[in-house]
Amino acid sequence: MSDSIDQLHADYKSNTSRDRDQQLVARLRSTPGLAAELIQRLLLDLPNLPGILPAALLGLQLDQFDPLARTAASTLRQDPCHAAAQDFIAHASLQALPPLRPHLQELFYVQPNWTTYYSMWPWRQTGVTEFEFLKRHLGTGMTFWDGGSSRTTQRAALEALFETREPEVLEFLEDRLPREDFHLHARDIGMEKSAEGYRKLHSEQTFHLSFPSSYIDGSALAARWLPMAGLEYHGLCLPQDHIFGGEGTGECRRCHQRLVNLLTLTPVPPGLGVTGLDQLSLQVCFSCLDLGVLFYEHDNHGSTRESALTVREGVGRVENCGSLRQTPVGLIRTPERWKWQDWALSNSRENLNRLGGHPAWIQNAEYPACPQCRQTMIHLLQLDSDLPMENGSEWWWGSGGCGYVSWCDQCKISAVQCQFT
Ligand SMILES: [Zn+2]
Ligand SMILES: [Zn+2]
Repeated sequence: MSDSIDQLHADYKSNTSRDRDQQLVARLRSTPGLAAELIQRLLLDLPNLPGILPAALLGLQLDQFDPLARTAASTLRQDPCHAAAQDFIAHASLQALPPLRPHLQELFYVQPNWTTYYSMWPWRQTGVTEFEFLKRHLGTGMTFWDGGSSRTTQRAALEALFETREPEVLEFLEDRLPREDFHLHARDIGMEKSAEGYRKLHSEQTFHLSFPSSYIDGSALAARWLPMAGLEYHGLCLPQDHIFGGEGTGECRRCHQRLVNLLTLTPVPPGLGVTGLDQLSLQVCFSCLDLGVLFYEHDNHGSTRESALTVREGVGRVENCGSLRQTPVGLIRTPERWKWQDWALSNSRENLNRLGGHPAWIQNAEYPACPQCRQTMIHLLQLDSDLPMENGSEWWWGSGGCGYVSWCDQCKISAVQCQFT
């Protein structure tokens, strides 16, 4: 089989077509075990190629991560800067956390990806199992590398402890950190300290938006997306009677243009933190979006209007940006493997159009305060760029980022903002 892996690797290296990742995933999926063997070789002795490892991982079954995590850990023991092994750890810390857990203490001393914001993600949701180990390293202040004073064991332990998202651990950290530091770290893991204890700023329930193939085929999204295991055919697919895109019903109070419908949920699925509404129509004025966070009030009959609490009049005439092309859209319950996604690590390969769940921020986490009750709003919807427009072009959030919708259930107010690089 190893001859064919060398051939596969050589073919990928010499392939200059735009869909070489799609071709690779199709080839790996047609032969069971091939993806695991390719990744094993990448971790041991094949030079890395940008893109080959993340694309190959998309051909891998979840139960094949365990032996590869062992190989990645032992490769990093020999060479802490091994590119493929570092990449494997980064992507496994999103798609398959349990296989990394037997190696956490070893990885702590190796610190793969230590210059990145995702270096401590392998500790995500580890509960209290690593608590004592990490606590011991909090007070040391040692540097990992000569000359690398910015990266201390203390800092690494602190970030890892936050990633556990465990109330007992958060309490320990809250007692030891300045208030503002604790608050900012907690925001980054999607949590907040409230009068009732630690509150999650996103739902556990996550759905991926599933567009009809007739809508996606030939689009910019189809050109860059790779199949995500378990998502394209995943079990419980709700009927496609939610409406994505098209004109909204409300009018912008600033520029008086018709709002754009992002997503109208009929009915609102349970588990998202939205209660008491028959339907919910999330709408926005694309033309005014560069003014910052826009807030909208919703009533029980599905009408949406810009919040009078936040409106600033007198914008004058602005360009009409048009609407997203309308389509019915399905919601797929997100499988465990895709519960965590990252905008940069997905590198445009993945469907990031998600309802509920943890947002894939591009910049730091931004959960707006509700203009009415001042409570922090929870995350509700994330939409990626390249969405098809009615006029045949594509919608980009800013210079090609994501749009984020937050929600206050008490006041029935939504907030829309975008982030981009
Ligand atoms: Zn407007
Ligand atoms: Zn509120």
